[in-house]
Amino acid sequence: GAAATGRASIEVATPKRTKEIIAKYGFSFKKSLGQNFLIDQNILNKIVEAAELDETKGALEIGPGIGALTQRLAASAGKVTAVEIDNRLIPILRDVLSEDTNTEVIHGDVLKLDLKQVFEDRFSDMSGVSVVANLPYYVTTPILMKLLEERLPLEHIVVMIQKEVADRMAAKPGGKEYGSLSVAVQYYCVPQVVCIVPHTVFIPQPNVDSAVIKLSLRDKPAVDVPDEDHYFRVVQASFAQRRKTLFNNLTAFVGKENREALTALLTGIGIDPARRGETLSLEEFASVSRAMLEAGWRG
Ligand code: SAM
Repeated sequence: GAAATGRASIEVATPKRTKEIIAKYGFSFKKSLGQNFLIDQNILNKIVEAAELDETKGALEIGPGIGALTQRLAASAGKVTAVEIDNRLIPILRDVLSEDTNTEVIHGDVLKLDLKQVFEDRFSDMSGVSVVANLPYYVTTPILMKLLEERLPLEHIVVMIQKEVADRMAAKPGGKEYGSLSVAVQYYCVPQVVCIVPHTVFIPQPNVDSAVIKLSLRDKPAVDVPDEDHYFRVVQASFAQRRKTLFNNLTAFVGKENREALTALLTGIGIDPARRGETLSLEEFASVSRAMLEAGWRG
């Protein structure tokens, strides 16, 4: 709280201060930018704690809003870079963060930003970097896939997202929540749902339930595959029509003329062709991908 940051006057994450700042700057929320600001100290503390920061670590925040989380990060990390798309928030952030000399605000769309360059410019002297954010829900998946696919040298990604999306990211094989998003996230990370978050901690309140998820980056991917692109295309194809069997979904991928060979291939690696995609582990998808490549099926 105020004591921790030593700046009693500018702690923004209270309903009163948030409303004051909004009134002072004449700010109006844009639903289309996923603007739901956090007003709860406990949730902010939980997010920051989960990120395991210290003065040797960097924090990249996506969507700082009026700086509620940014202030906490500034007090916990060595350096903070926050990327905000809404130009109306930039002067507010400048004021709110005026004392935080370790913090930089970039005005831009995180999806268009060269993050590798940001890491080089800002974080090369840090012992590790984590992404910490209350994400705009309309672009959660593209943002997270960008962070993972660009192979940024991240330690953790601790983010507030829609609960339903968090459940899909952390899902184990066998349930209806398990799908290509689960496989993609778990390929790169170990997921952990930190907490479920009530609507009441936001202004304005979102229509969906929220959760904080922590994704800890693996040193190397969860499974060893000869061709990543092929692996993810096999995964996509296996979940293409969820009520169909693995055999039916993969027939579309390898071509009808290969139906019999596909049955033999799956049986040969110990996978019942009548199973559904949602029952296969990351390792089983890797076996399918490997066997298909050996058979010359690139899909
Ligand atoms: N961090 C603040 C908080 O917790 O109170 C605000 C979080 S709010 C859920 C999401 C923020 O992301 C908004 O400030 C919004 O303007 C910003 N935003 C939306 N799309 C963005 C994008 N593509 N790139 C960067 N920021 C974005």
